[in-house]
Order: sequence, then C-alpha cells, then structure tokens
Amino acid sequence: MTMPSAPKIIRSVRELRAWSRAQRLEHRRIALVPTMGALHDGHLALIDIAQQHCERTVVSIFVNPTQFNESADFASYPRTFDVDAAQCQRREVDVIFAPTAEEMYPNGSRTTIRVGPIATRWEGEHRPGHFDGVATIVAKLFLACEPDVAVFGTKDFQQLAVIRQVALDLNLPADIVGVPTIREPDGLAMSSRNVRLSNDQRQAACTIFRAMNEAQHLLTDTSQSIEDIRQHVVNEIEMSGGVIDYVAIVDPVTLEPIEDFSEAQMLVAATFGTVRLIDNLRLRRDPSPTFGVR
Ligand code: AMP
Repeated sequence: MTMPSAPKIIRSVRELRAWSRAQRLEHRRIALVPTMGALHDGHLALIDIAQQHCERTVVSIFVNPTQFNESADFASYPRTFDVDAAQCQRREVDVIFAPTAEEMYPNGSRTTIRVGPIATRWEGEHRPGHFDGVATIVAKLFLACEPDVAVFGTKDFQQLAVIRQVALDLNLPADIVGVPTIREPDGLAMSSRNVRLSNDQRQAACTIFRAMNEAQHLLTDTSQSIEDIRQHVVNEIEMSGGVIDYVAIVDPVTLEPIEDFSEAQMLVAATFGTVRLIDNLRLRRDPSPTFGVR
C-alpha cells in the first residue's frame, strides 16, 4: 500500500487563510481539529469524524501558553511534532497548522475572551484563566482557518461546553461537533499527559473510570443518595492514591450540581503523582445499552 502524500505544513495565519479561501472557492468544506499535539488515538478519532463531515481536514498543533496556569506544566507538556506529522499523513490530513507562539500572539496576549459563569466552576476554579485562554485561542484558530466544522473531544467536557457557548455567543460560523472519549483497554481516558505517569500511577489512574462506572451501578441498583454516590467515587480514587480536585454530578448543559435528574454528567479531576487527569461519564437513571462504552 502506498503512503498517502504528506500534509501541507502551514506556519502562518496569512498562509492558512489563503489556503482556506482557495478551498472555499472550489466549494470544499473544511473541518478543523484543534490539538496541542502528542497525538494519540483520541485525537485520531477526532480526525476520522472531521473527515466524515468535510472534504478537507486541518489539524492544528499548538501548545497554547495562555491556557496553562502553571509554567512547569507548559514546559513539560510533550512535544512530538515529527511523530504527529507522520500520524496525520497516515490519516490523510490535508493541512497541519503549527504556528509559533509569536505568530499567534505577535504582541503578547492583550485581547482575551472572558467566558462567564460556565467557566468559573470545576476546571475554571482550579485553573484560573484556563478557559479564557482556551476560548481566545479557539476563536483565533477559527478566524485563521474559517472552518465549516470544528471537532472537539467529550473527554474535556467542560471545555466542549465552553466552546459551544462561545460559538453561540460570538456567532462563530462553524458547527461544533463533540466526539466520545477514546480509552485505553483498562478504561483510562487517553491523554497526552498519560506518558508522564509512572507504572504504579498508571495502574492507579484507571480507578477513575472504574469508580465512575460503579457510580452508575449504585445509581441504578441501589437507593443511595447522590451525595453518597459522589462520596463513593471520592473514596475509591483517594484509596488508589489519587488526590482529588473535584468529583461532581452536574447538569450536562449548565454544569451546575444536580440531584434530581434522568441524565447527569459526572466530572472528575484528580492528580496522580504530579500528573493531573480529568475524566467524565454520563450517568443515567435508566441506562441505555451504550452505558459503559464512553
Ligand atoms: P489536547 O491536545 O489535549 O488539547 O486535545 C485536543 C482535542 O482532543 C480536544 O478536543 C480533546 O477533548 C480531544 N481529546 C483528548 N483526549 C481525547 C480522548 N481520549 N478521546 C477523545 N478526544 C480526546
């Protein structure tokens, strides 16, 4: 089998915009998949979905400094451009947009989007400024790429909710598509940060998914209160060695805590060693046959 041709690597906003406009003149729709690189099967699933929606796919690879609130996390974030480019080539991605920080922020970060209440809880509380950074870079990528569709993972549940809200509030002219979380065989959500876990931490980290599934069982099979179910997940993760930032059961749209629901989202953030992981699961009082696969 012959290798597909290499994606075009674009490093400037001006060139990306010119490419995008040329595609549009030829009536080709463009899907954008924003990433920070260190691509894994979760990102590749996003690329597959992008290709189902549009004739052209752009993968952006940019470790965005403004969404990191800890410089050590930014410095240690994995950067694997050559391997990423080869993965994109195998997936027949058309363009990799890989700008420098100077290209994206030529005058520093002066103008930012302030997201509002949906960004203040959970991740927003533990990572001040994070979602303003995410919203701003996503808007900048949209302005550079002018995509018809943009694809994001449900793995970052609050991020997806924030982006949907920003797209609505700012009339961003792209359809936002969410993709279910891709997991390792033991249930750990794939993440570029997983490579920083030691073997022991890696084994302990799969407790997050196991405990969230136990919460689903407790919800359907017992009369335990929502708070008891939430506390069960806290206990399980703490017993495995994880340090909890939050375990919450929330309305899937507003992200406000709820107790009385037919469907809710469980959100978890916990640190193993120095590696902070987030995950989430849809909880259903009356679980559908797809329960457990996300
Ligand atoms: P990141 O490179 O971590 O910023 O992620 C880029 C995109 O990939 C985001 O939309 C993430 O939600 C998505 N993503 C990350 N991990 C996964 C996963 N395990 N399954 C599905 N999507 C993911």
